[in-house]
Amino acid sequence: MQTGKPVINALNKIIEINTQDLYAVVQPRVVTAKFAAEVAKQGLFYPPDPGSMAVSTIGGNVAENAGGLRGLKYGVTKDYVMGVDFFDVTGGLVKSGSRTVKCVTGLNLSGLQVASEGTLGVFNEIVLKLVPPPAANKAMMAVFDDIDKASETVAAIIAAHIVPCTLEILDNSTIKYVEDFTKAGLPTEAQAILLIEVDGHAGQVAKEAEKVVAICKKVGAVTVQAAKDEAQRNKLWEARRAALPALARARPTTVLEDATVPRSQIPAMIRAINDIAKKHQLDVGTFGHAGDGNLHPTILCDKRDTKEFERVEQAVDEIFDVALSLKGTLSGEHGIGLAKSKWLEKETSPATLAYARALKAAVDPKGILNPGKIIGG
Ligand SMILES: Cc1cc2nc3c(=O)[nH]c(=O)nc-3n(C[C@H](O)[C@H](O)[C@H](O)COP(=O)(O)OP(=O)(O)OC[C@H]3O[C@@H](n4cnc5c(N)ncnc54)[C@H](O)[C@@H]3O)c2cc1C
Repeated sequence: MQTGKPVINALNKIIEINTQDLYAVVQPRVVTAKFAAEVAKQGLFYPPDPGSMAVSTIGGNVAENAGGLRGLKYGVTKDYVMGVDFFDVTGGLVKSGSRTVKCVTGLNLSGLQVASEGTLGVFNEIVLKLVPPPAANKAMMAVFDDIDKASETVAAIIAAHIVPCTLEILDNSTIKYVEDFTKAGLPTEAQAILLIEVDGHAGQVAKEAEKVVAICKKVGAVTVQAAKDEAQRNKLWEARRAALPALARARPTTVLEDATVPRSQIPAMIRAINDIAKKHQLDVGTFGHAGDGNLHPTILCDKRDTKEFERVEQAVDEIFDVALSLKGTLSGEHGIGLAKSKWLEKETSPATLAYARALKAAVDPKGILNPGKIIGG
């Protein structure tokens, strides 16, 4: 029957949640949060949780190798992909991966699809690993009057070999916009906050939470408040998830970047972003998955103001240059798409790009699948 909707939108079923072998089989248009909730109902856990999970889909997450707030401890989407069945450009169904923990049958074509941004195939079914949920958790907010101290605290927590499941940073500008939007009770006078959660067995959680509080205070937190109950914990995470929508309300155009550096370089990266914003007289809110070294400097501007937008483009160039000079990467989780393809060679090499273009030409000679994305036109 003709419905007028692309067929791919119909692929929105969870086919199986296997509680014995700890995997699920999912169609690509299943919404991430819905999938995670169904998995939780079966007593299991699907950790990848992009900030957009209420609207993003598993197919989009696999295509972008989406990260999220729990990446530090639990990894990103690729760490949960056991198999992807996808259609090639002729409509042939390519099967790869399996429902087993181990599988080295053939080339790792599932791996090739992860982060392919829809350029190498159209997913039909995805097999995802599930894990047992943590028994306990503790969420905390550390408040700083100096952003350097907040970013140094991130590096200190990692250096102390504590692995929180979540370690997020919001700078003063982001805090103000989020508070205006959510009325979550964030401290608008703070120069930065860290939102931290540890999870695991109850005893381990209590010990790690204690250590985290001690490190925050030692490096210079003004206060560290722990969420007293699930409602307070949810409020913190809802506020964090509101960061991008809150910033995006401020000006007509939002340029969201994804610069990512080794974690020890977080203080240097944040200082550089602030210097670049000042130099180009731009309003930049910075937030992100600090524990992963993954920052989202978000430039608030108006594309119609050509002079301002030239400054934005210069600032983005400079942010990438700094990230690369700190041995970082252009994109931690959002991908390259069309906008960042011009920088790809700078981070990789001419041979890398030639290899990727040859691969694309072999599987999609007419350039039908998401033309121009990642490797340019
Ligand atoms: C408020 C907000 C917060 C965000 N937070 C995060 C975050 O914390 N971490 C993170 O990683 N990202 C984040 N993102 C970015 C984005 O949400 C994620 O990358 C997400 O994975 C995109 O999923 P989607 O379903 O919206 O995909 P879409 O945007 O619809 O598509 C993304 C890509 O996937 C391809 N694709 C979709 N379905 C298929 C398929 N069946 N076969 C092949 N290719 C396919 C599309 O062609 C496209 O190239 C955020 C975005 C927003 C707006």
